[in-house]
Amino acid sequence: MSADRKFFVGGNWKMNGSKEAINGILQFLNDSKVPANTDVVCAPPMVYLPYVKERLQSGMQVSAQNCYKVASGAFTAETSPAMLKDLGVDWVILGHSERRHVFGETDELIGQKVKHALDEGMKVIACIGEQLQERENGLTEEVVFKQMKAIANNVNDWSKVVIAYEPVWAIGTGKTASPEQAQEVHARLRAWMSENINPAVGQSTRIIYGGSVNAKNCQNLGSQADVDGFLVGGASLKPDFITIINARC
Ligand code: PEP
Repeated sequence: MSADRKFFVGGNWKMNGSKEAINGILQFLNDSKVPANTDVVCAPPMVYLPYVKERLQSGMQVSAQNCYKVASGAFTAETSPAMLKDLGVDWVILGHSERRHVFGETDELIGQKVKHALDEGMKVIACIGEQLQERENGLTEEVVFKQMKAIANNVNDWSKVVIAYEPVWAIGTGKTASPEQAQEVHARLRAWMSENINPAVGQSTRIIYGGSVNAKNCQNLGSQADVDGFLVGGASLKPDFITIINARC
């Protein structure tokens, strides 16, 4: 973490929830105080975005979990950034590993989505991360740099982008990257941005970690120099999320 980069915690609810379950989540979210200098952004399933936005405390923001790369047209079941903006939703998660590996989204498509979302005035949580075999074969850097490049080629305004480093082997598995493993990749990503974009972008862009973050491991992970917050899946549905948003307090 750095004093210059505002701590950022996103909650990715994935395809979970019902009005009843969401009411329970809203209760602990709305009972909590957002720590100073922290962004908290919750991403419910698309269909519940208005329900959550209308009821969530003003100290927290909402995000979509995905969007499409054009404004409107014959793209059944897709949602455009223009529609999200129309609902007052300013954030979108793009390139999540489940979108990449379950739904086959390519670097190219993710880049196009990033470009269009930013052009439409949205803020983007752009996800990257290697699979287990890639890590075991020593390919982590190569993989995350390639994913980063596909995103970076489509960004004009880095103040609107948060990078989420989420090793695929750590997502929803209970296997967390160690603080040292996370720090190592975050530092390399920051150096990549400094070299390939410019030093100011490298220094100011928030790089958050995701992958089985919980109430127990969040403090150690969050105390690493280049870890600027978290993208949280499973634990974002539980009161543990409040401990996580307070990880650096
Ligand atoms: C995620 O969905 O982005 C994620 C990191 O999930 P989990 O925290 O459950 O590993």
